[in-house]
Amino acid sequence: MRMEQAPTLTPDFLALLDTHAGLHFVRTLWEHFPERMFIIRVEGPEDFIIEAINPAQQTSIGIATQNLGQRIGDLLPGPIGHDVLRNYARCVEAGTPIRYEESGIFIDSDGTRQHGHWLTLLVPIKNQGGIITHLFGVAQNLTELRLAREALERQNLELERRVTERTAELLAVNERLAILATRDFLTDAYNRRHMVTLAEAELRRANRYDLPLCALMLDIDDFKGINDRCGHAAGDHVLRQVAKVIRETLRDSDLVGRYGGDEFMILIPETPLAGARESAERLRTAVQATTSCSISLGLAQRQATDESLDELLSRADAMLMLAKRNGRNRLEMAELIAPG
Ligand code: GH3
Ligand code: MG
Repeated sequence: MRMEQAPTLTPDFLALLDTHAGLHFVRTLWEHFPERMFIIRVEGPEDFIIEAINPAQQTSIGIATQNLGQRIGDLLPGPIGHDVLRNYARCVEAGTPIRYEESGIFIDSDGTRQHGHWLTLLVPIKNQGGIITHLFGVAQNLTELRLAREALERQNLELERRVTERTAELLAVNERLAILATRDFLTDAYNRRHMVTLAEAELRRANRYDLPLCALMLDIDDFKGINDRCGHAAGDHVLRQVAKVIRETLRDSDLVGRYGGDEFMILIPETPLAGARESAERLRTAVQATTSCSISLGLAQRQATDESLDELLSRADAMLMLAKRNGRNRLEMAELIAPG
């Protein structure tokens, strides 16, 4: 069912258009319409002649009145002319109005050549025999709009780039803050607070699944003497060296924290006492071989009766004290207390 189109003219005005006044209206529109209007005579399938161009057209595209009567193919050679001809031919073939966007060079009011964009409407005009004799064209200038859109797109891209850059910076800062909050700045081992948090989680896991877990406390021997003899900076260097040896000697899954001063706490998950003892001995030998100092170590394993991390740590600490008392540069370990 065809929809009834709403009238766009009053009957009075329609009647007026059929008189001489109608011609005056069309002329006035032609003179003052701000966008490009043009009429093309259809001579053949690829033969089009410029019949009329309105003043807006003349200033925008640079085709002057002397171009009237000229063939499009002669006036606009090359790819631009080819595109124009193709659209005209398409409109003739379709026999209905078509709309398309086109680009081209035009001369602005200062006589400068510019690249322009238009949204063009082509309407075929038929004679009484139904043959298309002319094409009526209106081209809306989109150049300013396009330039504004391109500028906006560039601004958006720049904004996106800055947001990405800033996000990356913030992520890096976040990462840095997380490191600062969890690591000891001198040795890069976990700080005591974070180490205790990790160790508590590890103990809970070991308790739940009844897994072996060992705690190793380690203290540098006569560290005060190193500070006194060689200075605080040399002491710092030794602390960093010991931390490095610990990292290189133990497994990645072992947790290493600086417990305070020259004392480190190490948690060795899923390893029974015998295995942890081997690691501890290897560590003691490696520190002695690669640094100017020795270490004492105290080792204890998780017991089923352990209710808190403190219980495990205090047994390891007691063993460390024993190692100090027994002459330093040695490992002492708490044997498993048989239940009952
Ligand atoms: P022991 O064999 O009994 O462990 O003797 P020690 O001299 O090592 O005694 P202790 O472990 O009590 O000494 C720790 C010293 O470590 C005391 C303190 O001045 C020093 N110290 C603590 N933190 C730092 C640090 O960050 N850098 C340096 N250079 N020294 C530190
Ligand atoms: Mg010490």
